[in-house]
Amino acid sequence: MSEELPRPHCNPKPRIPVVRPVGISDTRMRLINLLRTKWVNGTVLHFHFMGGPAAQQQAVRTAFAQWKALGIGLNFVEVTDRNESEVRIAFDQSDGSWSYVGKDVLSIASTEPTMNFGWDLTNDYGRTTALHEIGHTLGLPHEHQNPFAGIVWDEPKVYQYFTGTPNDWTREQTFHNVLRKINPDEVEGSNWDPDSVMEYWFPAGLIKEPAQFQAGLRPPGGLSAVDQDWARRIYPGLDSATPVLKPFESVALSLVPAGQADFVIEPPASRSYQLGTFGTADTVLVLFEEIDGEPRYLAGDDDSGEDRNALFGAKLIQGRKYVLRVRLYWAGQSGQTAVMYW
Ligand SMILES: [Zn+2]
Repeated sequence: MSEELPRPHCNPKPRIPVVRPVGISDTRMRLINLLRTKWVNGTVLHFHFMGGPAAQQQAVRTAFAQWKALGIGLNFVEVTDRNESEVRIAFDQSDGSWSYVGKDVLSIASTEPTMNFGWDLTNDYGRTTALHEIGHTLGLPHEHQNPFAGIVWDEPKVYQYFTGTPNDWTREQTFHNVLRKINPDEVEGSNWDPDSVMEYWFPAGLIKEPAQFQAGLRPPGGLSAVDQDWARRIYPGLDSATPVLKPFESVALSLVPAGQADFVIEPPASRSYQLGTFGTADTVLVLFEEIDGEPRYLAGDDDSGEDRNALFGAKLIQGRKYVLRVRLYWAGQSGQTAVMYW
């Protein structure tokens, strides 16, 4: 067997920490953690290239198209104006490959990248890297840090491998990216998917258990069946027949955690309105305006972990069309939620 060369690995940015609110039950906190970095389904993510060779840019476009081809409800639109982008992609070859996770990208200054590619994306490994970094942007963590994976590492060898060329990580980075287990609250289900696009490739000798991976762990590349199921469950294709929400009419919602309800708003008059949820549920409520057939983010509120309801004001114009999306973290003590605008 020929010796495998070491490979560069994704070195993602640390997650933005969340302070656990006082008095929150474990179940409620778990549901908040599962969804907090995920986008509201139906969001259009505008991506912008901060330079980069044409062939590398094209590889990233292809990777976005592969995620979209799963039939998910998110959309990806390339923009040339950096100020219109949520996702900014750089190709700094000295900075490795990484992305912020999910909605954390919104907290990054618009002058800064939210994703970087540090190696060629036009071969098999590079194509999987592009899918992997977009997976982070959609809210996926690393699969080899799944606390249910049951991986027992040969820690000295792991440090030796990742602190060496071509990764040249510090011991802290190695711990953060490989050895550290993700909080079980942030992982769905209890199964590990070694075929996931979010799973690292590992050479022989780093994994002690499960024994089958002592000779190395080599995911096949591309989106696994579990990756595809995840994307379709968190971001299902949108129903084209969206119900209309009328002013002053509250609509009761029966949502399961991570479930979403969508409404069209066609305001009867141009004025300032309030939009909000009712009940003890934790929700994120987001308003988009349809401009040239594309939903543009207008306003939103997130009441997760707080003893209040999602509520915001917005000036709505008669003759324009808006879409209101409500996503549920936790159904609350009563299990009942309602939404209204007035
Ligand atoms: Zn990664």
